Amino acid sequence: MMHPALTFPRPTKEDALKQPAKWNSDWESTTKKFQHVPPSKFFEAEATLLKMRVAADMDTAFIRHQSLLGNLCGLQLMITEEALTYFARNDLEAKWMQASSAVRGKHALIGLSNACSIAKDLHDVRLYCGRELTLSHLQEDGKIVLDLVQAVMALNDAGICEMPETPKDIADAAWDSFAQVQRGSTASESEKLAVANILALRTKLICHVVHFTVRSFLGLELPEVKLEAQKYHKDQFPEATMEQFVGRAAAKAAAKEDKAAWKETHGKRPEHCSYTGCFKINTGAGKFSRCKRCWDDMKREVLYCSGACQTADWKPNHKAICGKPLSFETASTRKYTPSENFAPVIGPPIGSYKRSPSLVYQTNLLSRNPKADYVISDSLKEPVFMDFPDPETQSLFRKCREKAMTTGDRENVAIMGHFLCWMTLQTRQVQPPASDGATVNVIVAQLKKEYRFDDLHLAINEMQQRQNMDPFKRPVLLSSMSPPNWVRFCSGMNGYQQVVLT
Ligand SMILES: [Zn+2]
Ligand SMILES: [Zn+2]
Repeated sequence: MMHPALTFPRPTKEDALKQPAKWNSDWESTTKKFQHVPPSKFFEAEATLLKMRVAADMDTAFIRHQSLLGNLCGLQLMITEEALTYFARNDLEAKWMQASSAVRGKHALIGLSNACSIAKDLHDVRLYCGRELTLSHLQEDGKIVLDLVQAVMALNDAGICEMPETPKDIADAAWDSFAQVQRGSTASESEKLAVANILALRTKLICHVVHFTVRSFLGLELPEVKLEAQKYHKDQFPEATMEQFVGRAAAKAAAKEDKAAWKETHGKRPEHCSYTGCFKINTGAGKFSRCKRCWDDMKREVLYCSGACQTADWKPNHKAICGKPLSFETASTRKYTPSENFAPVIGPPIGSYKRSPSLVYQTNLLSRNPKADYVISDSLKEPVFMDFPDPETQSLFRKCREKAMTTGDRENVAIMGHFLCWMTLQTRQVQPPASDGATVNVIVAQLKKEYRFDDLHLAINEMQQRQNMDPFKRPVLLSSMSPPNWVRFCSGMNGYQQVVLT
């Protein structure tokens, strides 16, 4: 029996950087041509090759899949940390939304062509990304790219940025339901693995695309992507089996192509540490040591940069698989215990409240700096950590802050915002002392963004009026403070400056 088509024709990876516009329009017509092909059909055609390659060396394929997942988690963590900074300090959201579609398109094309140039497997998986990665889709509505960035953010339930145990998938109705049906079916392990690989690569490509796009847009250096070390084994490609399907000449040609593609994808890769929490790459300074039992029993190369990483990886991950054959199940699960565990200082959002990325940045900063009461991050300067040493003031402030950050309650945001501004004006209390109103403007602009609260300045002015009407002239935040404590709080203050915002 002759197989109709081994793979779907695709544009060539080499053209991505050489002639990005043409390469991209080739891709767009390719995706358009196959837009109605369901995943099952794609898989049927391409899986012959994928499945056979996987089946030829299941163990290596499983290890590779596991490392792909770990790699993807690390990538998502890195993107999250960067993106939170870009949202909070580089004004990414407003700038991207205000940019023209042509400007967005220019950077999205840089993102597409650079991400697809990383490796052949990533390039080829673009076929399965369909509309998600068409240029017109990425540029027409600013929200598309911003939503993709937020979809892959590695935030735990408490909203803390942390290495995830499994990658955040980018949903795709057709592929997801195909994978789900297949997982529950009698499909072989190699078939399941082949589909899981497609899904992970798909997400990885989209992650790289948005990462490159955003960096390019902000005028930052494009990220350097390091690949991991792998060797091509002659038996990797099931030439003999393939021969039965396509005949000798075609199988030989396919094997040759496979080897070239493999070398291109994996050949240049340096060794990397197997512990998921470590990103060390062997620079040649010292040899990474391999797990002896895995090598002796399975000829499986599991490398660690240090004894510390090997120990850290043992209990949560490696123990279960050391020296033993893997299964699809074990290859798709991984556990990760963060070495630096940040206890969330702020509770998770309540009800349907959804934090802006700038506010997520703030809550993460506070969790990493639990002594600080608020962090003001002027884009041009180092962040300013504000704190209120007086215990009663701090406790009242933190109660209000908790309400504001978990519910977005306007009243509490305004009370807190007014207090931050008011304290900034009473120079004595704040580190470093603010000498003019500029800092107040920075605070208000930041809070407007954090709480998506455009009229905040008006609400703060209102809070100032409420302070003026208080018989003891206490700021609203301190309205429950006893008069003697308030007098003590004000000692040394020479009257006070009002917050008047325009
Ligand atoms: Zn390591
Ligand atoms: Zn081992």
